[in-house]
Amino acid sequence: MSIPHYDPHPASGGTLKRLPLLKASVLFIATVCLCLCGLLYLQLEQSRRQDLEAAQVASSNLTRAMAQQAEDTFMKADLVLTGLAEWIQADGYAAAQKPRLQKAFARRVLALEQLHGIFLFDKQGQWVVTSFDEPPRGPGVTDREYFKFHQQNVTSVAHIGPAIRSRESGEWIIPLSKRLNDKNGNFQGVLMAGIKMSYFDEFFKSFNIDDNGTMFVAMTDGTLLARRPFVESLIGASAAKSEIFQTLLPRAPSGSAMFSSVVDGVVRMYGYRQLSAYPLVVAAAASKDAILKEWYAAAFQSIVIVALVILGVGLFGWVFIHQVRDGERIEADLRKAQEALELIATHDSLTGLANRRLFERALDIEFGRGARQSSPLSLIMLDIDFFKRYNDTYGHVAGDHCLAEVARALKSCCHRKADLAVRYGGEEFAVLLPDTDIHGALAIAEQIRRSVIDKNITHSGSPTGYLTVSLGCYSFVPATGHDSIEAFIQRADAALYRAKHSGRNRSAVLSLEGGVEALARSDR
Ligand code: GH3
Ligand code: MG
Ligand code: MG
Repeated sequence: MSIPHYDPHPASGGTLKRLPLLKASVLFIATVCLCLCGLLYLQLEQSRRQDLEAAQVASSNLTRAMAQQAEDTFMKADLVLTGLAEWIQADGYAAAQKPRLQKAFARRVLALEQLHGIFLFDKQGQWVVTSFDEPPRGPGVTDREYFKFHQQNVTSVAHIGPAIRSRESGEWIIPLSKRLNDKNGNFQGVLMAGIKMSYFDEFFKSFNIDDNGTMFVAMTDGTLLARRPFVESLIGASAAKSEIFQTLLPRAPSGSAMFSSVVDGVVRMYGYRQLSAYPLVVAAAASKDAILKEWYAAAFQSIVIVALVILGVGLFGWVFIHQVRDGERIEADLRKAQEALELIATHDSLTGLANRRLFERALDIEFGRGARQSSPLSLIMLDIDFFKRYNDTYGHVAGDHCLAEVARALKSCCHRKADLAVRYGGEEFAVLLPDTDIHGALAIAEQIRRSVIDKNITHSGSPTGYLTVSLGCYSFVPATGHDSIEAFIQRADAALYRAKHSGRNRSAVLSLEGGVEALARSDR
């Protein structure tokens, strides 16, 4: 049953407040988790960039050192060749000169550790003098790239050719060679200095690079001359398709970039530099995995920590949200229980009508409202006729059923929301009718009386033979401080008394207008 008008504890709107709390907690937890992820991402991204930048600087420094070393190595050998070439072109290489030349070659080779040997070939490509004691015997070097180059090119500039295996010792060497001319500028032969590839290997090894890192010296066309790690099959191979030769070198003589190697597919941070004095390129690279090794470990640690924190926050949030929901459920249950208790405390259990407690509360409220709005307030008091006899005849249980029936009739006649039907006492009822004058009250009293008769409840103890009720009505316009609730009830009661004494089964009106009491009766 709803009791909106006289509910002393209206709903506080707690549910409305609780809903944002639940949403706010979900939002808060989601925001915390997102912020943590965002911070983690920013921090990891920044440290990753720093590591890559540091690797870029390192590879750039390394290539500068390599370029310097390569230039020095070739430059010194070049100077030796230039001196010897001038000497040979001036004095020739007749048999008488050979021992001197051989000694001079051997001395130079001893002086420069990068030199494998110095070789003089005649125009047929046959060994004339070498830095070794015994000149090798064989078909000559006409098939060698450097020999063909000097045969075909008149330039006296030193030429660096692809790495070859020395026919003298089988060692890998990089040939640095010069053309020899006679006085008329005709091709007279080739002077070649073999640079030990192992010299570069040793130099490469002096640097600390990771297992997947690489260093190499190549010709500008991409032909590999020396490489760390040394892989024999790659010597003489072409790296022309790599990004360095394809994209980077045409743009700038030095730089760095990260890309995947065309040789082994490993992603590395490459630094490269083209030599200014020779058509050579040096490059050094650290593998991406090695550069980011520490970063990976730190990232893993951070991710685990953040994941644990998120898990903790999520768990806490889950528990918190469940507690909020439980709280809501408990509060709803309590509210229901409170409403049930309120219903029990303010209603009669037999008839379901309002009890005297609620009646008194309603009277208080309606007296105030009537006074504020100057609207009439009416009260009907009702008493069942000869009810003692009914009980005596049909018993108390039947009497209780009878009371419930009368209550139903009463309720059916309370049309307005503000009308309040009350079980006032044992078999006495009241109907409070706000904003209703005496005419309205009498009309309703008559409706109730007829509705009870219409129920046609047999009552052998009543002269009519069926159950009837007597009603007393009173109406007035409350005025603040003038009227008491007791007087209001007493007057309605007085009207009821009149109805009883006028023969029962009727409605009586007590009017105090002009000090005259009027009794109205209406029989069936
Ligand atoms: P009258 O016409 O003058 O009203 O006669 P009456 O017998 O109804 O007299 P009265 O109003 O004093 O009746 C009171 C009787 O109502 C007493 C009791 O037997 C009966 N009664 C009061 N409360 C209850 C109740 O809760 N259940 C039942 N079954 N009877 C009740
Ligand atoms: Mg009575
Ligand atoms: Mg009675």
